[in-house]
Amino acid sequence: MSKGQFNKIGFIGLGLMGFPMANRLVGAGYELVVWNRTASKAIPLVEKGASQAATPRLVAEISDVVITMLATPEALKEVAEGTDGIVAGLSTGLSTSASAWIEMSTVGPDVIHEMSRLLPREVSMVDAPVLGSVPQANEGSLRIFAGGDGEAFESLSELLGVFGTATYMGSSGSGAAMKLVVNLTLGSIMCALGEALALGDGFGLDLHKVLDMLETSPIAHSVHTKREKIESGNWLANFRLELGSKDLRLVSEAALARGVQLRQVPAAKSWFDDALKNGMGDLDYSAVIAQIRTALK
Ligand code: NAP
Repeated sequence: MSKGQFNKIGFIGLGLMGFPMANRLVGAGYELVVWNRTASKAIPLVEKGASQAATPRLVAEISDVVITMLATPEALKEVAEGTDGIVAGLSTGLSTSASAWIEMSTVGPDVIHEMSRLLPREVSMVDAPVLGSVPQANEGSLRIFAGGDGEAFESLSELLGVFGTATYMGSSGSGAAMKLVVNLTLGSIMCALGEALALGDGFGLDLHKVLDMLETSPIAHSVHTKREKIESGNWLANFRLELGSKDLRLVSEAALARGVQLRQVPAAKSWFDDALKNGMGDLDYSAVIAQIRTALK
């Protein structure tokens, strides 16, 4: 099935989010080429007809568009740079190599600028991180914040529509910047909720009644979505705490570099760091609530 100018899509990073997103591309009839550090995660997609490339470079050489969905800026640079990297694949001058790179991880604007500078002029880079988690990635109902050349964004909008609703934020890095703005609130709200519950514990209030009341408060949405985890103590991850900590690190670094003196982010980050030290990195990011309630008991 032809999908206009972009038919063959390269997808790099098949983690909790990347896998269901790549899977939607198969479902939508795109020809898919994948690469993941842990190669075995690609097997279910290969069984559905996707091909698996040996290196990120090869993905870039044989696709019309490359999409990345990786954990951190460091991971992104690892797959982008070097002789086997995406940049080498986009720079071969081969007529088959991709003409656009959509970067969808949460990595902040600075590494987007760094990567963009490495690309040949004919290749467009669009930063397009997402809001929503695994259920929304499965359904194709993510919110996408996009930055980069406006025409490139328009030409990629049908493809982005497979994942959800995309909003154009402005020049290169604007989508990545918007994502940090949003994730500042996610980390802070989770810590505010943890501290609120710790205070309720200190007063000897009943947890379930406290949650009932907080579900009618300004942080109702977070209480509603995390209540089941708080009450059951089952912190199975949709969004790993290690990545929540990484986001607060990126927020802190980006704010500092721009002279924005944040005060509550360092406090929230210190809670996430404590949780990480206690081996909670692979739990859901909301497990920071358990860390806070235990520490303040
Ligand atoms: P994840 O499950 O931890 O997957 C991370 C992916 O990055 C995996 O494919 C992993 O490969 C790869 N990776 C990590 N380090 C690497 C390295 N050094 N070299 C090559 N590949 C490496 O993360 P996720 O939940 O899918 O999240 C992906 C991105 O989306 C993150 O930036 C996250 O902050 C953001 N995000 C997540 C959610 C969510 O709810 N989960 C929501 C919105 C945005 P392996 O499979 O080999 O480990």
